[in-house]
Amino acid sequence: MLITGLGVTEEERLADLRRHQTRNCETTKEYLMSYSPAVVFMLKHLKEIGCEVPASNILCAPCDLTRVGGFSPDPGAVVLCAGQFFSQSHMEQTMVHELMHMYDHCRFKVDWSNLRHHACSEIRANNLSGDCRYTRELRRGFVSFTKQHQACVRRQSVISVASNPACPDVETAEKVVNEVWESCSSDTRPFDEVRLIFLSEPSYGFSWPSCRYTSTIL
Ligand SMILES: [Zn+2]
Repeated sequence: MLITGLGVTEEERLADLRRHQTRNCETTKEYLMSYSPAVVFMLKHLKEIGCEVPASNILCAPCDLTRVGGFSPDPGAVVLCAGQFFSQSHMEQTMVHELMHMYDHCRFKVDWSNLRHHACSEIRANNLSGDCRYTRELRRGFVSFTKQHQACVRRQSVISVASNPACPDVETAEKVVNEVWESCSSDTRPFDEVRLIFLSEPSYGFSWPSCRYTSTIL
């Protein structure tokens, strides 16, 4: 480790830190791909609809500080921002969030420059990934959200849509999220019942910068 090394330049120290963070990210990624019920569930369903996601399409990489992950529709890759996760469940939620975008892209042929499409996918991803708390409150055949959960999903979705290059301003993002809210917040595919309540217990008193978009989208 160069962290405390004498005679090491700042650049070398940072490069070493990034390598270290990327290695940690890879280790956790591999673990979650094997043992997180939520991630395994998403991967299984992606495979079923013809979009198998190999580990090499989920990349750990350094990012800027404004995001924790991203989804790149072409060629269908998820980016996990090494060093930006404050817990394993934070990374787990981010993976499920981005895999939900991948699911929508594969299943519904999303046009990411269409703000209604993007908004719908964000609502679903924020709703079902555990980004917002109380996902556990989804019940079999009946989606029961607290107001707080709904407000969180809306807020996070507006932030993400507003960051779409095709979105002129936050007001437009809010309008579009409202327009598709009804149909998209009740669309829980591929989750359909209580079995989705398997995310590790998240209990954060704050929210983190949501999406999360790569050079391409989200
Ligand atoms: Zn997103």
